[in-house]
Amino acid sequence: MIKGSCLCGAVTIQIQGQITDIIHCHCSLCRKNSGTAYATNGFVNTEDFQITKGSDSLKTFSFKPGRLRHFCENCGSPIFSSNDADTTRIRIRLGCIDSTIDARPKSHNFVSSKADWEDMDATLPRYERFEPSRK
Ligand SMILES: [Zn+2]
Ligand SMILES: [Zn+2]
Repeated sequence: MIKGSCLCGAVTIQIQGQITDIIHCHCSLCRKNSGTAYATNGFVNTEDFQITKGSDSLKTFSFKPGRLRHFCENCGSPIFSSNDADTTRIRIRLGCIDSTIDARPKSHNFVSSKADWEDMDATLPRYERFEPSRK
C-alpha cells in the first residue's frame, strides 16, 4: 500500500498497486504547475487509486480540454491529473507520496523545454539535506 498526502494534510490518498512509467517532466506546464525545475509523475490504475481524506478539498484546473489537474485548495499541492480520453489511469505527482516505493524514474522528458538555469549535467555536489553553508 502506497500512501500520500498534500502539504497541509487535508488530502490523503492511497494506491493499492504500483506506480509505473515514472518520469521527470521538464515541460513548461509541469515547471509552472510545480514551481520547480521539473515534475516527477507516474501512472496509477484508476481502480487502484483512492482519496482517503479530503476529496472536497481537491480542486481542479484544466489547461487543456479534457485534462484536469487536481490540487489541494488549501495548500496548493498538486496531487494528480486525469484525462477524459483515458479514465483507466491517472497521473500521480510523486512529490505527494509518503511511502517508500521500489519504482524509479526512467527518464528526463521534454528536455528541450527545460529551464535554462537547470544544468542536468552539472557535477554539483549532492547533499542529503541543506547545503552545509546554510545558516
Ligand atoms: Zn493541502
Ligand atoms: Zn510536463
